[in-house]
Amino acid sequence: MTSTKYIFVTGGVTSSLGKGIISASLAKLLQARGFSVTIQKFDPYINVDPGTLNPYEHGECYVTDDGAETDLDLGHYERFLNVPTSQANNVTTGRIYYNVIKKEREGEFLGKTVQVVPHITDEIKNSIYKLGETDQFDFVITELGGCVGDIESLPFIEAVRQARFELGPTNALNIHLTLIPFLNAAGELKTKPTQHSVKQLLEAGIQPDILVCRSEHKLPQDLRKKIALFCNVPHNCVIEAMDAESIYDVPLLMRKEKLDERVLSRMKFSYKKEPGLEHWKEFLGRLKNPTDEIKLALVGKYVELQDAYKSISEAFVHAGAANECKVNVTWISSEEIDGTNAKKLLSNVHGLLVAPGFGERGIEGKIESIKYVRENNIPFFGICLGMQCATVEFARNVLKLESAHSREMNGETENAIIDLMEDQKNLTEMGGTMRLGAYDCQIKKGTKAYQTYGQTKISERHRHRYEFNNKYLEEFEKHGMIASGVNPKTGLVEIVELKDHRWFVGSQFHPELKSTVLNPHPLFVKFVKAALLYKRELTSTER
Ligand code: GLN
Repeated sequence: MTSTKYIFVTGGVTSSLGKGIISASLAKLLQARGFSVTIQKFDPYINVDPGTLNPYEHGECYVTDDGAETDLDLGHYERFLNVPTSQANNVTTGRIYYNVIKKEREGEFLGKTVQVVPHITDEIKNSIYKLGETDQFDFVITELGGCVGDIESLPFIEAVRQARFELGPTNALNIHLTLIPFLNAAGELKTKPTQHSVKQLLEAGIQPDILVCRSEHKLPQDLRKKIALFCNVPHNCVIEAMDAESIYDVPLLMRKEKLDERVLSRMKFSYKKEPGLEHWKEFLGRLKNPTDEIKLALVGKYVELQDAYKSISEAFVHAGAANECKVNVTWISSEEIDGTNAKKLLSNVHGLLVAPGFGERGIEGKIESIKYVRENNIPFFGICLGMQCATVEFARNVLKLESAHSREMNGETENAIIDLMEDQKNLTEMGGTMRLGAYDCQIKKGTKAYQTYGQTKISERHRHRYEFNNKYLEEFEKHGMIASGVNPKTGLVEIVELKDHRWFVGSQFHPELKSTVLNPHPLFVKFVKAALLYKRELTSTER
């Protein structure tokens, strides 16, 4: 067994308590003390991965370098730690069963009856230990989705119980995240739901080591003592987690509550040195003291659930801080926009982002909004479907190819500006043809993309089926829309931009997936900057 330490994060009372942010914050504090840390998420649903889930139900699907389609919490892990995750960092019940059933079909169990205990629980434990066995990490933090007591979480809880037993008390630790509600009528914070959820954990054989208590109010000492007594945890291991103004405040709040120290002392490490959080604090300083602000429109299909564009929102937060500028995003449903109201909806924004997406709904609204900002020289950024729409709009309105469309929206069009590649056409299995994960891109010098990245070789993450049809490239470039980034192996277009426009850029890849606190993504930073300059120009001409 390796020397890796394992931390399990469970949740009780309700879902949505922010286990992902607490896990990422603890990881950040440990990392800031010089430890290497990774975080893993277990999701108790039957889907093998969240790739097939509707973003309305589960928020954005986050894609890693190795092409895994994962839970959006992995985005938080990367944004906080600035270390890439992979398929091994997100495991669902579906994947566990899939692996076990595959082994059964291959005869690996030698005629034995295959059961939840031990076969499913062993497979879960394998997934826990897999990251530790790479010998890359001092700590593996495993976050369990759902709540203790849920039927579907039971095998995970049992696997954690076994792992704790196998690893021993100084190598494994359990943090339980719970809610302390405030009852208005009684004017009191109530600990009973926490006591009950700890009892449920105890029934499953797990004694929590640390309780992180979410609450809208401060936890007074006497209440902490009461929780400690009833839940068998030391008084100083009852940690308060008040609602924070920004998720990026949470590492500092956890530092104040000494969460990292409790973990380290429990695992027999010294914690005399302070964590090095200078860069983080600097980022918070810039985030909280903007010198200017801009208004951007985000046009997309899933605007009712903002988690559907989580990484984009966070990338704006990073880029805003980099520019010392508050970014106010107005969310507009693409179905709302048409040729008659684009001006009304967009004339007072300083930039437009057209979001990624799938399917036909709202597509004409996206195209209309792009037409408006292209013609009015307003900064534009299109991501994936947003970039594809920008090329269709250009083909229709500049090249005068009226029937121009993407094959995804119109299978019959004579001008499929966006099309399936030849080798994809026979593959129909859902998801089977998707281009997923990191691909190289070669950037042409003298372009906005080059000014943005400052280098010619980049790698970015993809999640799409359709591509720009290179048959049209010459005509596009002749009329001012150029391919400034191209895949060096396949020649597929990765970035388009307009020559005669203040900032009009579309990327076939998803830059938002690589934006972190430490490395705000250059395309977002430059887009925000372009919008800021545009705003300043507008206000100076108004004067
Ligand atoms: N639907 C488009 C495609 O599959 C774009 C996907 C996306 O925006 N992620 O190519």
